[in-house]
Amino acid sequence: MQELKEITKEEVRIKELKINFENAMKDPNFKQFIDQLHYPKNMLIKYTSKFEECCQEVQNCKHCKGIFECKNQLEGHRFFPKIIQEKLYFTYLPCKYQKKVLEKEEKSLQKIMMKDIDPSDKKQLKIIKWLDDFYENFDLVKSFKGLYLHGSFGSGKTYLITALLNELEKTKHVQITMVYFPDALRDLKEDWENFSYKMKNYMEVDILFIDDIGAEKVTEWGRDEILGTILQARMNHHKTTFFTSNLTILELEEHLSIANNSVDKVKSRRIIERIKQLTEDMELISENRRK
Ligand code: ADP
Ligand code: MG
Repeated sequence: MQELKEITKEEVRIKELKINFENAMKDPNFKQFIDQLHYPKNMLIKYTSKFEECCQEVQNCKHCKGIFECKNQLEGHRFFPKIIQEKLYFTYLPCKYQKKVLEKEEKSLQKIMMKDIDPSDKKQLKIIKWLDDFYENFDLVKSFKGLYLHGSFGSGKTYLITALLNELEKTKHVQITMVYFPDALRDLKEDWENFSYKMKNYMEVDILFIDDIGAEKVTEWGRDEILGTILQARMNHHKTTFFTSNLTILELEEHLSIANNSVDKVKSRRIIERIKQLTEDMELISENRRK
């Protein structure tokens, strides 16, 4: 009797979902959007409102002339569905204008060397001195601690470390990998084919630069399987690791302790201990130089 009742409830729910979906399909834009996806119908009907959001964002993009007039939830991005290993996800994809901005930023960062560092900001001097010493003394045979450089937005954290690492790569032929941490996590999740190859590189490359740790959404997977594994391996192999963050190490500990709505202070503590062993802690609080 109980079972029968539940089946009926489920059937009612599916019926409602179907009606809802069919109603939305009356909108020609929505219909066209859905038809292009070629997704199975049972998957579609459960997420009508999310697909409607995606469709609206595609419409917003149609006549848009540039990021300055972006109407979407996340500026320069489009909310979009994606199927990975038969599971449906919704992500934010950069639009054509945002891609250009990213390319430009990446290109300008790829080129900067230590000689490009403008030394006029007094607040940066201590960091620049530290980077100069690191460059002079760096030796692959000995193990060197990197930096945990935290501080205010736009103060030059990423810029300064990038200049040092580009210099080491070009003039001392050190292998460098730089990752913007929130993107790296997304990328590992989505690109299963290259997962082990990428992880192996993060674990073993001469110098790893994890940019903007603390800006990611914490999940147990990202914290324990990815970050924890990478940092443990780097400690074991005595490899140099750099971090930048808007959070102090204490704030990062707090940030990492809450994953998927559950609190785990022990796991977070473990990550923090590894970061402390791998780095020296420095702060850079200065004016925002981003235009
Ligand atoms: P953060 O990572 O701290 O948020 P960034 O490193 O992205 O900040 O710095 C913002 C911008 O400021 C950089 O793109 C760069 O153009 C400029 N900048 C910061 N410090 C310097 C410097 N010492 N010399 C030249 N440009 C700098
Ligand atoms: Mg930065």
